Amino acid sequence: MTFAYLGLIKPLLRTLPVLGYILPTPVQRQAIPALLAGRDLLMAAQTGSGKTAGFALPVLQRLTLEGSPAAANSVRALVLVPTRELAEQVHGTIRACGMELPLRTAVAYGGVSINPQMMLLRSGIDVLVATPGRLLDLYRQNAVRFDQLQILVLDEADRMLDLGFSRELEELFALLPAQRQTLLCSATFSEEIRQIATGLLRDPLTIEISAPN
Ligand code: ADP
Ligand code: MG
Repeated sequence: MTFAYLGLIKPLLRTLPVLGYILPTPVQRQAIPALLAGRDLLMAAQTGSGKTAGFALPVLQRLTLEGSPAAANSVRALVLVPTRELAEQVHGTIRACGMELPLRTAVAYGGVSINPQMMLLRSGIDVLVATPGRLLDLYRQNAVRFDQLQILVLDEADRMLDLGFSRELEELFALLPAQRQTLLCSATFSEEIRQIATGLLRDPLTIEISAPN
């Protein structure tokens, strides 16, 4: 089972070997075709199973093939993450996967000056990786708008709940267009995750994998 078989476009297929990704992981095998087809997804698989590329590749492909360029301050795909370290890491993977695509990406988290982040958002962003608190700050400053949002990803949703982000998440969800693709990633599959998924996802595919690869 190859990445080409999963339906990825040439610019992505050219990039994968450069990153050392020769064959898709089990999670990627299931996630990529479903996400390319536009489905919502609940992806519960343990750390190290390749969830990041599992959502990054189809998200980048859909943004390339569908929708219109991001208008000023608009974001077309939003990836919410619990910490700045994870924000940098996930943004790095998304940038690497998308190196042959003409898409703009950005990362925003708290604990650093908000002004450079506001400047970056001005020209519109295809994929924004952000922590919930800083994203709300940016929204309140009119630095970001969600009317063009096509895709929402919650990465490490279990950790976001553990860190007490549920209220900020609820506040953000209320700002997003209902018509969108939504994807929830988690290392665990708790009752709380199930509940969030029920409220957020539409007819989702559920991928639950406990083995590492
Ligand atoms: P998770 O989010 O599920 O914890 P990551 O997306 O962080 O996992 O991936 C774990 C590691 O596996 C990373 O170092 C990543 O570069 C690598 N990786 C992901 N997909 C592949 C692949 N198809 N082939 C080889 N390595 C991969
Ligand atoms: Mg991860």
